[in-house]
Amino acid sequence: MRRYFIFFFFFLFCFSRSLFAQNYEFVSIAFTNEKDVNFVFKKYQLRAHRENTDFFLGINKLGGLHTLVNRRLYYLPIFKFKYNGKSVKETLGLDDWSAAEAIVKYNKLLQTKKVRPRSIVESKEIWVPYHLMKGQEIMPDPSERPLLAGKKPDNFPIFGKSHSEITPVSQKLKNHVYYIVSGHGGPDPGAIARKGKFRLHEDEYAYDIGLRLARNLISHGAKVYMIIRDPSDGIRETMYLKNGQNEKCWPSEEIPLDQLQRLKQRADAVNQLYEHNKANGIRFQRVLMLHLDSRPSNKRIDMFFYHAPKSLASKKFATSLQQTIKKKYRLTRKNKHYTGVVKGRDLYMLRKTKPIAVYAELGNLQNTQDQKRFLPPNNRQAIANWLTAGLLKKE
Ligand SMILES: [Zn+2]
Repeated sequence: MRRYFIFFFFFLFCFSRSLFAQNYEFVSIAFTNEKDVNFVFKKYQLRAHRENTDFFLGINKLGGLHTLVNRRLYYLPIFKFKYNGKSVKETLGLDDWSAAEAIVKYNKLLQTKKVRPRSIVESKEIWVPYHLMKGQEIMPDPSERPLLAGKKPDNFPIFGKSHSEITPVSQKLKNHVYYIVSGHGGPDPGAIARKGKFRLHEDEYAYDIGLRLARNLISHGAKVYMIIRDPSDGIRETMYLKNGQNEKCWPSEEIPLDQLQRLKQRADAVNQLYEHNKANGIRFQRVLMLHLDSRPSNKRIDMFFYHAPKSLASKKFATSLQQTIKKKYRLTRKNKHYTGVVKGRDLYMLRKTKPIAVYAELGNLQNTQDQKRFLPPNNRQAIANWLTAGLLKKE
């Protein structure tokens, strides 16, 4: 026990963040018998504890071990990195020799057990088991994997039971990465409006619309990260969204109350993922911040957009979205009037996030007319659909 503890503690500190800047794949094998999980784990020197099993289920998008199908390929909780031909320490960007030694030892052990036929040098591959990766900031945990659909219908629990299944519609957004940051969350509800006996919280409505948008984008082949995420609330088909404080920041961090800390946390999350995806050859990356404004209750506000003041690309992105929204208003509004603008604003999230960014204000939460845009679930879906149409169009 003591030995295990030291071992674990030690690794928590040894890995530098740069490990995840590398490209990796998972080791994969075909199961011959669904009851073989423990056997396979043992063979690959993986501990059969909950975390390993959960991670295994997560990367394979499985609801449980009983859903394993014989002879199908599955990923094991072992990361495969391309060896640079010099040293393990250097390849993985480790700060510590001992961490590299433990990995070398693990690879040698698998070779002597005849699980790996070739050495690191021969195969040019380093295998790092999940239990040696722990303590990382960006960890592809089951609930924390990016949302990316394959070509078949797939399940994404974050959208809630009745909306978890996604059927692919197109591959138009293939290789596009979107970060959706719904405003506020956790201890910060954002704007609050009263409606009869109900209180409307900005963060809940922004999150629901964010989920609907994410779901649309995934169905068109995009890879989406919900930066603000709620483990309990999926897409909700009710007018009045219950207020909670369960939201977390990617991957599953508590959201601090302090405003600057709160924004820094989500900007950092976006930027780390951005670097990771960039290192993996993804060129098209966008971040969308979703907010509902709080203005005097007699003021109607059409959807409008802020761009990063010094970024032409951000301005172009915002304008493209605004043009689509304008068209949609023209089609649906009797007087065809639309006043939503695009303007630069020096906001922390626009300034600090690395992908091309846009900040959408979806309306005035205090205004009775505008509330009709947010309260009926169908209208929240319509907002998501309009934004999706804007993103599907070439900028
Ligand atoms: Zn806000």
